[in-house]
Amino acid sequence: MMEVDALSLAQHLIRCPSVTPEEGGALTFIEGVLREAGFEVHRLVFTAPGTPDVENLYARYGSGEPYLLFAGHTDVVPPGDATRWRHDPFSGVIDGEELHGRGAVDMKGGIACMMAAALEFIRETSDFKGSIGFLITGDEEGPAINGTVKLLEWAKARGERFNHCILGEPTNPNRLGDMIKIGRRGSLTGRIVVEGKQGHVAYPHLADNPVPGMIRLVDGLLREPLDQGTDHFDASNLEVTTIDVGNPASNVIPAEARATFNIRFNDLWTPQSLEEEVERRLREAAGNTVRYRLAMDPTNAVAFLTPPNTFVGFIADAIEAETGRRPKLSTTGGTSDARFIVKDCPVVEFGLVGQTMHQVDERVAVADLDRLSTIYRKVLDAYFAASADALQA
Ligand SMILES: [Zn+2]
Repeated sequence: MMEVDALSLAQHLIRCPSVTPEEGGALTFIEGVLREAGFEVHRLVFTAPGTPDVENLYARYGSGEPYLLFAGHTDVVPPGDATRWRHDPFSGVIDGEELHGRGAVDMKGGIACMMAAALEFIRETSDFKGSIGFLITGDEEGPAINGTVKLLEWAKARGERFNHCILGEPTNPNRLGDMIKIGRRGSLTGRIVVEGKQGHVAYPHLADNPVPGMIRLVDGLLREPLDQGTDHFDASNLEVTTIDVGNPASNVIPAEARATFNIRFNDLWTPQSLEEEVERRLREAAGNTVRYRLAMDPTNAVAFLTPPNTFVGFIADAIEAETGRRPKLSTTGGTSDARFIVKDCPVVEFGLVGQTMHQVDERVAVADLDRLSTIYRKVLDAYFAASADALQA
């Protein structure tokens, strides 16, 4: 029997050079450990034209309900210049109190804690009713096309039904126990082109300057807040990310002006309702004097919320029992794979401290690995001891 404590699992995983889209041995390692513990394991390669093939893993222990799913990714971002690291980014070296290496917090460390907790729970609770699963992709840091979305489709086609999911992304800004993510904002990008007519600045009546029109449109977008936020979300935010005319001459009226904006929006909006609001604001600002085109980029980043329920409570209680602190329930930050999983079941995100993610010398406190696996273990205890009714609440 191999060692299955969180630290040695994390070291093994870090030593697999699984920079997206390479599998790097990481999923093979997980497969071996989970199989030995009695999981049924599936390895799935998904492909799409124009994107690299990606390996994924799905594993399940037990056949009953409730079904608690752990989700995550073994792929990591590139280390950059490895000589700038204190230790080889794929060596998994322990230096003082910390484990070093790419993926230490994002999120091989988190996966190691989930595995350690699940394996310990299964060893010590042989008579539990329900299922524990792992949904692990190798395509989170890349295009995210041949990963979680297709894995979920595949699982659904097989008849897999999850009741709840924990995604182990690093959610804590400073210390373990800071923050649980119970939702995420959506993201929508739009592009505006104002059409004018090029000409000499001394003969403006022969030209049509698109710049004043663009100023009116942008002002129209920004003048009123989109909303005031909700109990669980900040106010939606529209940022103008660029306004481009690209005109090097001071004596030429340009022919065209372009602008791009991105909106991070809460669950008061869908991409459709937001697009309608943007169109309305632009129409109003343009009147019948500004000629423009609007195009919205396609998005799969919708806003979602897992309302603070019993399941969220189990996680918050486990965190408080282990760290002595009640975590903040947050919906801040960028998008994550949770936006795909939430279509199938409620998702909560909780993992390690994110401070060094994607950085040189990514590292995790060894003590945090122990504590996070203890937290996941406490969640498993509470979850499988709860009645079906309690879990619905
Ligand atoms: Zn991640």
